[in-house]
Amino acid sequence: MTTQVESLDSFRTRARAWLAEAEPPHVPLDLDGRFKVLRQWQKSLFEAGWIGIAWSKEAGGQGLSHMHQLVFVEELVRARAPQPIGLIGLDVVGPSIDLYGSDWQRAELLPRLLSGDDIWCQGFSEPSAGSDLASLRTRAVVDGDDFVVSGQKVWTSWAHMAQWCALLVRTDTSVRKQAGISYLLVDMTSPGITTSPIEQMTGDREFCEVFFDEVRVPRQNLLGSLNEGWSIAMHTLGTERAGATLRRRVECEVALDDAVTQLRQRGANGPEADRRARAAIGRAHVALRVLDAQTRQTTARLIADAGPTPVDSVDKLLLNEIEQIVFSEIAGLLGPLRAVPGSRPHGLQSERWAHEHLYSRAASIYGGTSQIQRNIIAERLLGLPRG
Ligand SMILES: Cc1cc2nc3c(=O)[nH]c(=O)nc-3n(C[C@H](O)[C@H](O)[C@H](O)COP(=O)(O)OP(=O)(O)OC[C@H]3O[C@@H](n4cnc5c(N)ncnc54)[C@H](O)[C@@H]3O)c2cc1C
Repeated sequence: MTTQVESLDSFRTRARAWLAEAEPPHVPLDLDGRFKVLRQWQKSLFEAGWIGIAWSKEAGGQGLSHMHQLVFVEELVRARAPQPIGLIGLDVVGPSIDLYGSDWQRAELLPRLLSGDDIWCQGFSEPSAGSDLASLRTRAVVDGDDFVVSGQKVWTSWAHMAQWCALLVRTDTSVRKQAGISYLLVDMTSPGITTSPIEQMTGDREFCEVFFDEVRVPRQNLLGSLNEGWSIAMHTLGTERAGATLRRRVECEVALDDAVTQLRQRGANGPEADRRARAAIGRAHVALRVLDAQTRQTTARLIADAGPTPVDSVDKLLLNEIEQIVFSEIAGLLGPLRAVPGSRPHGLQSERWAHEHLYSRAASIYGGTSQIQRNIIAERLLGLPRG
């Protein structure tokens, strides 16, 4: 017997109705408060069946398509509701565990990842291995039924609050660097792990240095095969790029709408200020239309279930630039008053736009820098020689 897949229109109507009733939470500015509220929000979304929409039912998801997932993201953002806290698990490492994981790993880890009971972090970057990720040096040696892990990661988002880490380690030093990497799933409460938060320019302490001192990780926590972690890592990064682009596009569009609404509510500011506001909003709007055109192709790839491709780098590159254009145009309108808490220059909420502007500076770094996306496009899409 075949079951009918819910149409996108019906799904959208159902999502919109639920969000209208759900009273999305107010998100506090402080990190601990934000974490708590967004974790509870993930639980509410999970219990109502809005988490893991495109994940298989066996993995605890809803068994719908990526298009259904995208429709829900659009409705969530348009309802001004926050994202769940566990996006690294849901959008970045979880799909790789679902695809490459053993039965035990999928059964043991994915349900709690979806519900928000377990928060995941991504332990890829190291002090000397960011763009050149394959140079990573955190070592894991086999000892009986365990790996013993020693080394350091950096910029690990939410590491100090996470229960699990998707960790890239070197397990063979005698082969070319990509060939000696393995992908471990590490319990963050294991003895020998220390996290040290780093303050970002937004003032948040969202990411960390993480130190591993002879940490024992059971062999059953190896994802995929020994020394074959590199291709899984490429899957994780590809999924991260595609997912982030689609979500951030809608978030930037809604942010621009909110800025226009705030400017309108304030009314006329004099001809010069109004001319500047019109020009800034126009530039941000044009940038978003370019991203919109590009991501139509991403949507087509999603419908075809094409999986991560080097074309995701074109999306990520455009997103990096356009996100920064949108928020710097809005922040530019704040003028010096952006530094005054609670101020409303031209009707704009200074804290929100100053924070968005500062956070947008990270867009061209996380998930692979803009320069690295250009390298991927040049080498893998255009076939140009390696630099
Ligand atoms: C907000 C935020 C959250 C993050 N969260 C995580 C996380 O959760 N987990 C994680 O593992 N990492 C995370 N990162 C780290 C991120 O992935 C790295 O910062 C990124 O890959 C760049 O590495 P790097 O910082 O070592 O810079 P480097 O690689 O040292 O690069 C420095 C500069 O040199 C340029 N460059 C380097 N190599 C080349 C080249 N071959 N050609 C041209 N230019 C080049 C880069 O583009 C960059 O401008 C996060 C970063 C940010 C900003």
